[in-house]
Amino acid sequence: MTTARFNAIAAATAWRDQARTEGAGQRIEELYGCDVFSEKVMRQRLPKSVFQRLMNTIKRGQKLDAQLADTVAAAMKDWAVERGATHYTHWFQPLTGLTAEKHDSFINTDGSHSVVSQFSGSALTQGEPDASSFPSGGLRATFEARGYTAWDPTSPVFLNRSGPNVTLCIPTAFVSWTGEALDNKTPLLRSIEALSNQAMRILRILGSDQGVGRINTTLGPEQEYFLIDRNLYFARPDLLHCDRTLFGAKPPKGQQLEDHYFGSIPARVLSYMAEVEGELYRLGVPVKTRHNEVAPAQFEIAPIFENANVAVDHQMLLMETLKRVAPRYGLQCILHEKPFAGINGSGKHNNWAISTDTGVNLLDPRDDTHTNLQFMVFLCAVIRAVDIHADLLRASIASASNDHRLGANEAPPAIISIFLGDMLTDIIDQIESGTTRRTKKGGQLDLGATTLPNLPRDAGDRNRTSPFAFTGNKFEFRAVGSSQTSAWPMTVLNTIVAESLDFVASSFERSLGKNPNPAKVQKVVSDLLRTIIKEHKRVVFNGDGYSKEWHEEAERRGLPHLRDSVDALPVFLKKRAGDLFAKYKVLSRAETEARGHIFLEKYVKQVTIEAETMVSISRTMVFPAALQHQRRLAEAISAAQGADVDVGDQRAILEDLVALIGKLSGATNRLEAALAHEASGSHLEHAKHVRDGVKPAMADVREAADALESVVADELWPLPTYRDLLFIK
Ligand code: ADP
Ligand code: MG
Repeated sequence: MTTARFNAIAAATAWRDQARTEGAGQRIEELYGCDVFSEKVMRQRLPKSVFQRLMNTIKRGQKLDAQLADTVAAAMKDWAVERGATHYTHWFQPLTGLTAEKHDSFINTDGSHSVVSQFSGSALTQGEPDASSFPSGGLRATFEARGYTAWDPTSPVFLNRSGPNVTLCIPTAFVSWTGEALDNKTPLLRSIEALSNQAMRILRILGSDQGVGRINTTLGPEQEYFLIDRNLYFARPDLLHCDRTLFGAKPPKGQQLEDHYFGSIPARVLSYMAEVEGELYRLGVPVKTRHNEVAPAQFEIAPIFENANVAVDHQMLLMETLKRVAPRYGLQCILHEKPFAGINGSGKHNNWAISTDTGVNLLDPRDDTHTNLQFMVFLCAVIRAVDIHADLLRASIASASNDHRLGANEAPPAIISIFLGDMLTDIIDQIESGTTRRTKKGGQLDLGATTLPNLPRDAGDRNRTSPFAFTGNKFEFRAVGSSQTSAWPMTVLNTIVAESLDFVASSFERSLGKNPNPAKVQKVVSDLLRTIIKEHKRVVFNGDGYSKEWHEEAERRGLPHLRDSVDALPVFLKKRAGDLFAKYKVLSRAETEARGHIFLEKYVKQVTIEAETMVSISRTMVFPAALQHQRRLAEAISAAQGADVDVGDQRAILEDLVALIGKLSGATNRLEAALAHEASGSHLEHAKHVRDGVKPAMADVREAADALESVVADELWPLPTYRDLLFIK
């Protein structure tokens, strides 16, 4: 073992054995939300009339006037300063997929020599960070780089703590001076609005809109992640630069034994989790579950669901907190979708439903505050949306890192289908054939659906192989990558469902006229549901999504199969996508296209960085180690021959080794050549070159290096192995 690797392992074991244990056993009620400028705090600190008007803004989207903003800002500042804050920041989510902040202190000069701390309504509601270094996909030139941030009052203001430094964080949307969305929040908010408008039309037609002001989408994201000892992490340049291993032979003990899943949580990890949870509770993030995942060193954390906008903000905080706390325990948190070849990757299951502001889940068949007919309308609208726009949904989760995971026999396939379970499939079959099991009084069809209320919520009916599964009262979009923001896939999902609800509502309105009688509604609705099911049930699949048979079956059904990001991302460049987002005012055509370019460019950058890192590790670490091994072997053989001993097959071993080193060297040269390729043309052309030229060469380098790892003397091998990385925890 090289000295560096040895030291790293020694340090890792020491860390593991001395794990800190604070952070455990906190009193959640006391901690929960204490760093949030919550409704409760606002009620206490704001004059009653101001509080009321602010609530109207938050809950009903009414405009906030300047004077009101001043009062709110002053209260916010006092609250924050009492808790040690010196600065505030507009916290936003640029198209890097991360969050960004620029801190300003509360300080202001008052004309004399002293200073006062101040925070005005305009500073609260609007900021102007320099936007030039954030991706815009050509939406704005650098010379007109101004962008501004605008307060999103629907997501709570919170305190960010780093040691003694406390910053007041204001969730904001980030737009260009001409109003184009430069972030992930703006389109998400617009998509929720679009879905709300269309869903309200349906409720009105079905007569269940009483008291309902608007519709929200709810989101509960389950986050998978890996924990690696930090000493080992630093000894691996690939992990350090790319968040994944570019080399590494499979360990003899992988996940075959399946002894890690839901197993007892190692002490160091449990302490870490408790501290993460404590920090998240302070921020009002309702984290609920923690457990070991399938792969060794893989874990999961999941919150209770919230309104999608807040849930997305909280998800960003959750990812940041996971990363930030880990070093305190000598750990590195890895959010990459596929850090280790041959070991399960990480996803982020986005549990999603549609809910009224009166708290009714429109995707819950058991909710007796509305009829099952209504449930079936929403269910069928989602089925239709996913079938028609499967390509968009697929593209919404495309990235270089998720490419390693999707369709790799351990994650949902890249073919989008819906799992409904036997019970619902039976019901849609009944609706389709028109042979329902019961009829209502007066001979009207009740679709079989009105027999639903007491049906069990099918929690046991699990299918892990589906990318998009109905799980009792919500859909679970499982193909989302672990490192990506939920904002974009949720934006796309909301938009395609809005389109589908629009289609359904318009059909109803056309057939029913102004004042429909209830009997007619039943008939019209069931007719339309039948048509939708006939046309779109091809997207429903309850079987094994990993199987080869499904791939063939999906092709027969004509479902799109966009294998990788380079196949999928151009969907956003198409007119059809631009038109759809524009129609529902989620993104302009230019904004949609810009996103396509940004994602393709990111793909190219990500793979290029990996390839460059790979060349460097191959030349400076793997090759020298292999040569040293070759020299030892050669010297040993020649010494034996000098002593006139028959060396048996040792010459052949040496020859194989030399050949393998030759393979490594050749593949590294080819990879370098592929990287040097002068990329002209569009992002798409460049991405194609990366996929078809660079990635195959990377695979060859890896194959040679991994083969070397299993023959070169362990003491010479410079990189911590999979065994070291995955089993010291
Ligand atoms: P699993 O068995 O997949 O872990 P759970 O039932 O524990 O599923 O729920 C997973 C996530 O789904 C949790 O975050 C939970 O809060 C969320 N969830 C439950 N109901 C809804 C809903 N109506 N809308 C959105 N998310 C929901
Ligand atoms: Mg799940």
